Amino acid sequence: MTTNDDDWDCEVDVLVLGSGAGGLGAAAVAATEGLRVLVLEKTEFVGGTTAYSAGTCWIPDNRFQRADGVTDDAEAARSYLDALVGDRSPRRMRETYVRRGTEVIDYLDGIGVRFWPSKKVVDYHPELPGAGMGGRALEPVPFDGRRLGRANFGRVRGPVPEFALFGGTLMLRRAEVNELLRIYEGSLRSVPLALRLGLRWAIDRLRFSRGTRLAMGNALVANLYCHLLARGGDVWFTAVTTELLSDHGRVEGALVTHRGRQLRVRARRGVVLAGGGFAASAERRAQYLPAPTAQFTRAAEAATGDTLALGQSVGGALGPPHDDNAFWFPSSIGRRRDGSTAVFPHIWDRAKPGLVAVNDAGRRFTDEAVSYHRFTRAMYESHKAVPSIPAWLVVDSRTLTKYGLGLVRPHLPALLRKKYQATGYLVTAPTVRELATTIGVDPQGLEQTIIDNNSYARTGVDEQFGKGENPFDRQYGDPEHRPNPNLGPIEVPPYYAIAVVPTPLGTALGLRIDPDARVLTESGAPTEGLYACGNDADSVMAAEYPGAGCQVGSALTFGYVAARHAAQRS
Ligand SMILES: Cc1cc2nc3c(=O)[nH]c(=O)nc-3n(C[C@H](O)[C@H](O)[C@H](O)COP(=O)(O)OP(=O)(O)OC[C@H]3O[C@@H](n4cnc5c(N)ncnc54)[C@H](O)[C@@H]3O)c2cc1C
Repeated sequence: MTTNDDDWDCEVDVLVLGSGAGGLGAAAVAATEGLRVLVLEKTEFVGGTTAYSAGTCWIPDNRFQRADGVTDDAEAARSYLDALVGDRSPRRMRETYVRRGTEVIDYLDGIGVRFWPSKKVVDYHPELPGAGMGGRALEPVPFDGRRLGRANFGRVRGPVPEFALFGGTLMLRRAEVNELLRIYEGSLRSVPLALRLGLRWAIDRLRFSRGTRLAMGNALVANLYCHLLARGGDVWFTAVTTELLSDHGRVEGALVTHRGRQLRVRARRGVVLAGGGFAASAERRAQYLPAPTAQFTRAAEAATGDTLALGQSVGGALGPPHDDNAFWFPSSIGRRRDGSTAVFPHIWDRAKPGLVAVNDAGRRFTDEAVSYHRFTRAMYESHKAVPSIPAWLVVDSRTLTKYGLGLVRPHLPALLRKKYQATGYLVTAPTVRELATTIGVDPQGLEQTIIDNNSYARTGVDEQFGKGENPFDRQYGDPEHRPNPNLGPIEVPPYYAIAVVPTPLGTALGLRIDPDARVLTESGAPTEGLYACGNDADSVMAAEYPGAGCQVGSALTFGYVAARHAAQRS
C-alpha cells in the first residue's frame, strides 16, 4: 500500500512495535532525544521476555571496568568474538556492538536507567582467547515500582513465578537468594535482609498485586517504561499492526487496529521492529529450529515472529541460517498448582556437585556445568548417536536436599517433595538400577556412570569431560566442596531424576540490519524508515552465546542505535 500525506489518523516521530529491552530501550532513547514516541504492544503488558529475564547485559569495555583501570577490554572482546563467531556474522556488526554497547550503558546511566557490574561472572567460552573472567556482565539496579503508580505498575509483565517467592510476587536478586539460603546453614546474618524484604513486600501487598521492589529484567523494563512515560511517550496495549505503510521503498507508518478501530499511524522518523523474535511460534520453531523440535519455551507468548513477517512484507531479508537459529536452555517441564505449565530453565543447578546428566544409554554426554546454551547443543549432538532428548539430571537425596533441582527448592521437606513425584516431574527410586529402569535408561550404563562419577568426585578429576577445570564451571559450583566444586558423589539413597528438554530462550535468526539498525533488503540496501532490534534483528553473534547478557545487551544496543539514527533523520 502506498501512502497519502493527508490521510493519517495520527502522527508520531518514532513508532515502536514491541516493549521488551529492544523496543522500550529504543523508545526511551528516542523520547530522551526529544522525539514523539508511540509504542505498540501486542499484549496487555510491557516487558516481553525481557521481563522474565535476569536482565543481565553483556557489555565489554564498560564504565565499571574503566573505573577499575581496565583499558584493553574492547580489544580482548573483539578477539574473543572473532574466535567464537568468526565469519558467520558480519564483523562490522560485532564491532558496532562492542563500540556502541558501552556508549548505551553510559547514556542510560545518564537518564537514571542504571546497572551494577557482576564482577565474577565468567564468559561462556573461557577456553577462547579474550574471554572475560568477570566484569562484562551488568545487572540492572533494582527499581521501585511505586514510581510508576498503581495503574502503570500493573502494566509491567510479572517475572517467571519460579524465579521469585510467594507465587512470583516477591522478586530477589541472585545475590540475595544466595544470602538467604545461608539461613539453612544456621547463619543469622541474612535475617535482617529477610525481614527487610518481607516487610516491604507485606506493605506493598496492601496496595499492589505484587511486591514493587523489582529486580533483574523486571527492573530494567519498569525503569525504561517509567522514563518513557515521563518523557511524554505513550504505549498502546493489545495493538495489532496489520501492515507497514511505505512510499517508494520508504516506510512511512503502519496500519494498526486498536480498541476496535483501524488507524493509519504515521511515523515521521521511522518504525522500529522489536517484537522479540519467534521462540513462541510452534510453526516457526518447526521451520527453523533443529529436530526434534522444541515443544516448549520460556519466552513470552507473543514472540511469534509477526514483526519479522511485517519486515519481510516491505522487502526486509532474514539473515542467513545459523547453526541452530536459537539460544537455548535445558528446561524441565512441570505443572503449577493452578494447572498451568511451568517451564523451568536449568541455569545454575547443573553445576552443583553430585549431579550427572545422562542419555538413554545411561551415559554422560557433556560436562554438566557448561553454559545452558552449550549443554543443550550437547544434547542435540549426542542425540545423533543415542537418544538424549529428553536427557536426565540424576542426583542423590543429599544433593537434592542441599542444592535443590529445578522446581524442587533446596531443603524442601520430604513430604512436600511428594507432590513433584505424584505429577511425575521428580522420579525417585531406592537404587540406581531401579531409577534407571523407571526413567527408561540403560541400567548398566547408569550404574557405571555413577561409579565413574563417584571415583571422579574422590580424585577431583572428571576424566571424561573435565568438569570443574575451568572458571566458568567453578563459578556456579559449591566453593566449599572439595576437592572439586563441581564434582560430588551420588551415593545416598533414594536417588532422583528430572527430565530436561531443549527450550529456546530466544531466537537468533532475524531481519538483517546494518550498523545503524536499518533493516536490509536481499540486495543489502537499507530500507529507509525501518529499523529492527532485539531478537527481531539477526543475531550479531550468529547463534553463538559469548556470555551472560548478550541478548539483552544486543537489544539495548541496537534499540539505542536505531533511536539515535532516527533522531538524526529529517
Ligand atoms: C528466563 C529467561 C532469562 C533470561 N535471562 C537473560 C539475561 O539475563 N540476559 C540476556 O541477555 N538474555 C536473557 N534472556 C533472553 C532475553 O530475555 C531475550 O532474548 C530478550 O529479552 C529479548 O528482547 P526483545 O526486546 O527482543 O524481546 P522481548 O523482551 O520479548 O519483547 C518483545 C515484545 O514485543 C511484543 N510483540 C510481539 N509481537 C508484536 C507485534 N506484532 N506488535 C507489537 N508488539 C509485539 C511482545 O509482546 C513483547 O512484549 C532470558 C530469557 C529467559 C526466558
